[in-house]
Formats: sequence, C-alpha cells, structure tokens
Amino acid sequence: MFNKKTVEDLDLQGKKVLVRVDFNVPIKDGTVGDDTRIRAALPTIEYLLEHGAAVILCSHLGRPKGKVQPEFSLRPVADHLSKLIDKPVAFSEECIGPVAEQAAEALKPGDVLVLENTRFYAGETNNDPEMAKQLAALADLYVNDAFGSAHRAHASTEGVANYLPAVAGFLMEKEIRYLGQAIANPARPFIAILGGAKISDKIGVIRNLLKKADQVLIGGGMANTFFKAQGYPIGESLVEEEALDTARELLDEGGNHLRLPVDVVIADRFENEAERRVMSMGPVPEGWRILDIGPETVDTFGKIIEEAGTVVWNGPMGVFEFPRFSEGTFGVARAIAHSQATSIVGGGDSVAAVQEAGVADQITHISTGGGASLEMLEGLVLPGLAALQDKE
Ligand code: ADP
Ligand code: MG
Repeated sequence: MFNKKTVEDLDLQGKKVLVRVDFNVPIKDGTVGDDTRIRAALPTIEYLLEHGAAVILCSHLGRPKGKVQPEFSLRPVADHLSKLIDKPVAFSEECIGPVAEQAAEALKPGDVLVLENTRFYAGETNNDPEMAKQLAALADLYVNDAFGSAHRAHASTEGVANYLPAVAGFLMEKEIRYLGQAIANPARPFIAILGGAKISDKIGVIRNLLKKADQVLIGGGMANTFFKAQGYPIGESLVEEEALDTARELLDEGGNHLRLPVDVVIADRFENEAERRVMSMGPVPEGWRILDIGPETVDTFGKIIEEAGTVVWNGPMGVFEFPRFSEGTFGVARAIAHSQATSIVGGGDSVAAVQEAGVADQITHISTGGGASLEMLEGLVLPGLAALQDKE
C-alpha cells in the first residue's frame, strides 16, 4: 500500500523545494492547450506556498532528445501557471548550472520558479548523477508529483532523490492510492477492461490482471489478435502476427476469466463513412475489418460492470474517433459511469473517450499517467516512487 512520506511530513517554512511535476502538455503557437496536467499539480504547489516554502518546478516536455529545441520550451507553461495561481512565476532558461542557481538563490518564501525543460540535457534520460546533483543543489527538499513520469528512472524523477530528502506530492499519492488499492486489495468482483490498438503494448498488463482480476474483458484492436489465435479469419482487421503465440498462451492461461466480444461491428473501409455491419463473432468476410464491439457485447460487458466492486479500464473498445464506430467505447464508458463500482480509467485515448462520452465526473479516478498507470497494473515497481522516503 502507499507508505511514502508526503509534503505533509515536511517542515516547509523558509525552505526551497524542488518539485518534479508532469507539465508535459500540448503547446500550440506558444500557448498551452489542454492544461489538465498543470491543474493536477496545483494542490501540491499551493500547499507548499501556503506553508512558507519557495517552489522550484521542473518537468520534461516532449522529446527534445537532450538538445535545446525552442518549440519544447516550458516558458509558455510558466506563463500559463502564473494565470492559474494568480501570481508572478519566474522562469529560468537553464534547469541546472549558474543561471538556475542564481534564479533559485533569489527566491523568497511564497515565490515560484519554473526551470527549463529537463530533457534539453542528455543527463536527464541517462539518469546522470552529475545532473541529479546539480538539480539537488538548487533546493533543500525534493517532492515528486509527476506520476506520469514515475515509471522512468531519470535524473529529475529518480536520481535527484539520492541527494535530497525526497517525498511524494498529493497527485502522486492519490494516483498510487487508487491504482495500488485496485491491484492489492480490490472490492470484488474486480473487473478489468482492456482494449486499444495493440496487444503487444499490454501483454504484461493482461497477464498480471488475469491473476488479480475476477474477469478480464477484452475489446478494441487487441481482440482481433485473440480472434485470429482462435482460428477465425478476420479479413483486413488490425492484427499483430508476432503476438499470435502470446495470444494463444493468454487464452490458455485465462480460461473463462478472459472474455472476448461476442459480436462486432465491421466496415468495408477504414473510415467513418464506410459501409457498416453488425455480426455475431464468426469469420469476417474478406475485405472487411472489425472497428468496434457489437451491441450484444456492450450488453454482456455492461451486466458484468454493473455487478462489479472495482472496474479498471484501459484502451478503447473500437475506433471511437469515427462516430459511427464509437458506440462500443461510449457504451462501456456509460456502463462504468452508472455502476456503483470504484472505477479507474487510465490511458490517453481512454480518458479522452470518457470525456467525450460526457461521463468523466462519474468516474472515481481518472489517471493522469498512461504509461505509469499501465506499469502499475502490470505489477511493476515505479522507480520514481521507489526512490522516495518511506513513512516511519
Ligand atoms: P490508450 O491511449 O487509452 O492507452 P491505446 O493508445 O492503446 O489506448 O489505443 C487507442 C487506439 O486504438 C485508438 O486510436 C483506436 O482508434 C484504436 N483502436 C481501437 N479499436 C481498434 C480496432 N478495432 N481497429 C483499429 N484500431 C483500433
Ligand atoms: Mg493511446
């Protein structure tokens, strides 16, 4: 369970606190698009400020590959944050070294500084101890609130924790509590719903959840590989030939814990305007492809979801970007929303689907970290979490 120290365990008055946040947000023409991730870090930032700390924020943005690339600058994020918290936010064009040190030195209690993109330095993704030390030199304390990056052992997520007292922020705590509880001690029945494009991304997750969950419901593109492994012709459906053996193994291991769609929606082309047919699962006609789960499957899955104590969902049930093939995904989203179960949704596209279905406020916990939440569901240790101090 969650046993890490948090910001509430720190004496913050007059301290400088380096906070790793996940400010990896979309930037267009120098302004921030969806700011969900910035807002998610506000409780920690505000708590630190209210308790007399100065806050130094660091994050990666995009994949600048260890080089300065202006389109990945965090400056627009600093400006946006300033509006959200309604106070000035300083910006340092370097995240380590003399420029950053001077900017950090100048901070007074209640001040906020944003450092430039950690990934402008190769030392970040290499977890270079030198970079970690230089980051640590800026502050008295370290807080990791970047759940979305906690599955990476980078200088700003893991290395730095070797050189400063290191604790979790509120977002990190919340994410780990919900996901950790679901895995370790779920209210039963515990139902996992997995979909999305590819089975290969999620083999470890399926395998771990087959052990933990009462049932694993499969939809989306990954179901096709299972269908093919069962011997069905699946036409032009997205399939991963190289995962067929694994799919067969999982079908064997899973037995009747693993549920596949009983009907599907097929299309004669990969587009919204394609001709569309619902069919009970069987041989898919040549030239056609599966783009969604069918209504009977939505019903069957819906009944299972209704009875659940815990539901974890990752991966859309179909190509929900096409409105005519979105009914399976939205149907499952609504079933989860109406269920009394503790519900947890993770994954960029799944979260978008829940929002588009208009049911986001009826989900118990929407995870901010796609990759990190998958690694939790896979039962892996997150290096960014492991590096933090345990509660005594
Ligand atoms: P998440 O971001 O929630 O983890 P993924 O990225 O794994 O989800 O998968 C989402 C993608 O899977 C969507 O773009 C969706 O169009 C695609 N997808 C779902 N079902 C199918 C299908 N039957 N055929 C092709 N693509 C599919
Ligand atoms: Mg995705």
